Amino acid sequence: MTPSSLDALIDALRCLPGVGPKSAQRMAYYLLQRDQRGAHRLAESLERALSSLQHCERCNTFTEERICQRCANPQRDARLLCVVEMPADLAMIEQTLAYKGLYYVLMGRLSPLDGIGPRELGLEKLLARATDGVVEEVILATNFTNEGEATAHMLSELLAARGVRASRLSRGVPVGGELEHTDSGTIAQALVERRTL
Ligand SMILES: [Zn+2]
Repeated sequence: MTPSSLDALIDALRCLPGVGPKSAQRMAYYLLQRDQRGAHRLAESLERALSSLQHCERCNTFTEERICQRCANPQRDARLLCVVEMPADLAMIEQTLAYKGLYYVLMGRLSPLDGIGPRELGLEKLLARATDGVVEEVILATNFTNEGEATAHMLSELLAARGVRASRLSRGVPVGGELEHTDSGTIAQALVERRTL
């Protein structure tokens, strides 16, 4: 039996992280009953984002171009490559105004429990980027959580094996801390005091 369109909607909403059957149901009823305009906007912007966004060939973040504006900007220092987990982390570092290099966005972190290993994370693309002959230092700015630390550790070993210098943000960022929730002054300090790995 094909599910009704209501069932299909509730089921589709469950693809969002942390959304179980109950909250999916609440969301579906809310959209249909209370905010049909919002529902249309959601559907249209999802369609548009899915068809127009791709990963930047250089930094892996989402962009409508083949190469994003930041990577294409000749004012940025191409000798520095800062590796972050998510675009929100990149935004936090940009806010500090303390960094003029380029970025690589992992779009995740190593997480063996969720089945995310080096291959799933696409580390090959990062390693190719880091060994382009222009990059002189890779700054590992993954979060100071267990998974972020494990990711930084693995990357430092892979980079060392390829003769690329790697550094890590200093511990101004609290243990267990996520960049997204850290103030920009602390991040700026951690960048300046980064340590060589
Ligand atoms: Zn880019």
